[in-house]
Amino acid sequence: MNLKVNKNRLWQSLTKMAEIGPGDNGGSCRLALTDADIEGRNLLKSWAAQLNCSHRLDSMGNLFIRREGNNGKAPVLMGSHLDTQPCGGRFDGVLGVLGAIEVLRVLEENNIKTEHPLEVVVWTNEEGVRFSPAMMGSGVFSGVFKQSEIFLHKDNNGVSVEQALHNSDQLGSEACKSFPIEAYYELHIEQGPVLELENKTIGVVTGAQGISWSHVTLNGQSAHAGTTPMNYRKDPVSGMIQIVKGLQEIIKEQKSSLYTVGGIESQPASINSVANKVLFTVDLRHPEDAILKIMQQKFKSLIDEVCARENLKSELNNIWYSPAISFNKSCISKVKIATEKLGYSYQNIVSGAGHDACQISYVAPVGMIFIPCKGGLSHNEAESISPENAQAGANVLLNAVLESSVIN
Ligand SMILES: [Zn+2]
Repeated sequence: MNLKVNKNRLWQSLTKMAEIGPGDNGGSCRLALTDADIEGRNLLKSWAAQLNCSHRLDSMGNLFIRREGNNGKAPVLMGSHLDTQPCGGRFDGVLGVLGAIEVLRVLEENNIKTEHPLEVVVWTNEEGVRFSPAMMGSGVFSGVFKQSEIFLHKDNNGVSVEQALHNSDQLGSEACKSFPIEAYYELHIEQGPVLELENKTIGVVTGAQGISWSHVTLNGQSAHAGTTPMNYRKDPVSGMIQIVKGLQEIIKEQKSSLYTVGGIESQPASINSVANKVLFTVDLRHPEDAILKIMQQKFKSLIDEVCARENLKSELNNIWYSPAISFNKSCISKVKIATEKLGYSYQNIVSGAGHDACQISYVAPVGMIFIPCKGGLSHNEAESISPENAQAGANVLLNAVLESSVIN
């Protein structure tokens, strides 16, 4: 039996959710634990109530909507997040949650009972906009973050996470920590251009790439732009340019590697002075940890080499390292089998962004499904997907979940 979700109903749900906290340009603005976020959760709960599901909150405000199974086995989870960027799209996160609700609707109308219970999860503050860091609720759940520390983090108005949970009535009585989970599936838009460019409907996500963030400071010497000959200068801007060129070479050596120099500041930033200091950021990524570590090492040697040549002093501060993640082989294979069974074109893909699924992969078997988004655009109000692809993604979710939860 090839069960399918209802395309129009799924699309209507996505449209209805987007009416809550609408952005100025057609997108969504529901920052974590704000009134709009809570209104979105309430709408979701009203849909869950029609499906005879119970719901509960944990102490990080993670919301679990539960459909009982035939036995007391560990539940199969599916979900994502409902909070958005300040000028976010309608689908980032939302598709994973509403796709999961649509799965429950299909099971309910077909009178299908599963062995394992099913739970739709909404993770709190995935975006990390109002409160830092991102993937907060799922991070505490999996033990990556400590709740006692996270509770103290404040938004720009001085409101702590704990206060926000309390004020919005999302502080659940159940402790936020992992419990036995049969499998966790997350449907998400790709947020990049690959599937669209490759003309594929489904991305079978095999894992997430590793990320290394560094702050670099180059110290030189300020000097007069008109009186100091080039060979007497200690110019950190010139050093930085050589380092960026060197990074481009490092990237060429390793397939699938990425570098980004996103933040640059020079001091004193005067048009007729050689700078005495340059600060810049470097983001390095690769799907394999071992290779990312080699890239980081080469990057460090590159800085030393350039600084020795240019008479500069450097400080390299690695501020964040997130290891590459491989998802569960059995979950990946269930996603693949479901995709093939449904006849969709697909390819394996490594997630370029972080997702709640990455955090959950530390405590449960995880699989992820990507669908294309127009132009690869995300974190943008213009974020767009087709109803057909939304349905395809939810169909794969439905069938993968059924594989894991066992129909009887
Ligand atoms: Zn997301």
